Amino acid sequence: MVQVKDVVEKLEAAYPPQLAESWDHVGLICGDPEAQVGKVAFALDCTQAVAEAAVACGAQMLVVHHPLLLRGVHSVAANTPKGKVVHTLISGGCALFAAHTNADSARPGVSDILAELVGITPGRPIKPVTLGGTDKWGVHVPPQDTRRLKLALFESGAGAIGDYSECAFSIDGTGEFTPLDGADPTDGQVGEHFTAAETRVEFVAPTRLRRTLIDVLRANHPYEEPAFDVVQLEDTEDLSQATGLGRIGELPEPMTLREFTQQVADNLPETVWGVRAAGDPEQMVQKVAVSSGAGDSFLDDVAKLGVDVYVTSDLRHHPVDEHLRAGGPAVVDTAHWASEFPFTRQAAGIVAGLDVATEIVEIRTDPWTVSAHPDRPER
Ligand SMILES: [Zn+2]
Repeated sequence: MVQVKDVVEKLEAAYPPQLAESWDHVGLICGDPEAQVGKVAFALDCTQAVAEAAVACGAQMLVVHHPLLLRGVHSVAANTPKGKVVHTLISGGCALFAAHTNADSARPGVSDILAELVGITPGRPIKPVTLGGTDKWGVHVPPQDTRRLKLALFESGAGAIGDYSECAFSIDGTGEFTPLDGADPTDGQVGEHFTAAETRVEFVAPTRLRRTLIDVLRANHPYEEPAFDVVQLEDTEDLSQATGLGRIGELPEPMTLREFTQQVADNLPETVWGVRAAGDPEQMVQKVAVSSGAGDSFLDDVAKLGVDVYVTSDLRHHPVDEHLRAGGPAVVDTAHWASEFPFTRQAAGIVAGLDVATEIVEIRTDPWTVSAHPDRPER
């Protein structure tokens, strides 16, 4: 039988929590990791109606994109809106889990589906996020100890490059030193200058392993004070598959902003007020940036990246007006809910590998429910 923790593990493998933005709070919000799960429900927001629907459909776990409790909480009393949601879920035997900015940044993530829906192949992120950098190491070691030391370092995660493991480069040279009082040299004697053959071994390793590898190096190097250097490399990663927020890609054929806006509206989940665009409706667009959810903080970034049009949500008058006047790309503004609801389908697909039923809660949690235009004859 599948447990809550199995579903969590599966989702966190696809949406690594380390990719979440520093202000975000992702993961299990309520529920027992040991509880059994026969059905998992999916939604964008955990509103009261969604919580009730999840319990009513027989789910023991609800997976959402937006964290229910993002800011400090001092009460989950049932007479508060969020407390009532928590009570509904717990008394209904339903755990709650959120994958938020980690799901946005992951590959594939929420922005990848949005990119595909608007008609582009998702390429590089607007803002790449790397899970730690890469270090380049150089270690000086007597030739007879080189192999043992390399193996110990390789076993601890050093020397991996793409589909290759145990990668290193060695060059023979001469090491020299004078042991001072208090030293206990493996070779040489206190007070006498010593010269010997040494091999310099170079390899790369993830920066996050630096402390571990220093310990491994000291434990497996014959010298009391091993000579080594570590430098962090500039990021040379191919950004086209990098993790991070937003995606950039190109339409197969250029089209007008008007046509593109219609294409976005046709392919995203429908909302009451639809999709709007800012910019000359007849301008041709081909290079597209997308950012699911509220993406106005990337207006400057997309302008620098040379895109023709930027699709995101929650845009405001002044930032967009100033962005366009500064020559920035056209902007397409969708409902926040519409740009991210496809997350539910993606997350359900991730969990589908487990022996559980899945159900998407088809409640439109877009807060906007009315759209009006003047009722004039010419319309
Ligand atoms: Zn969102």
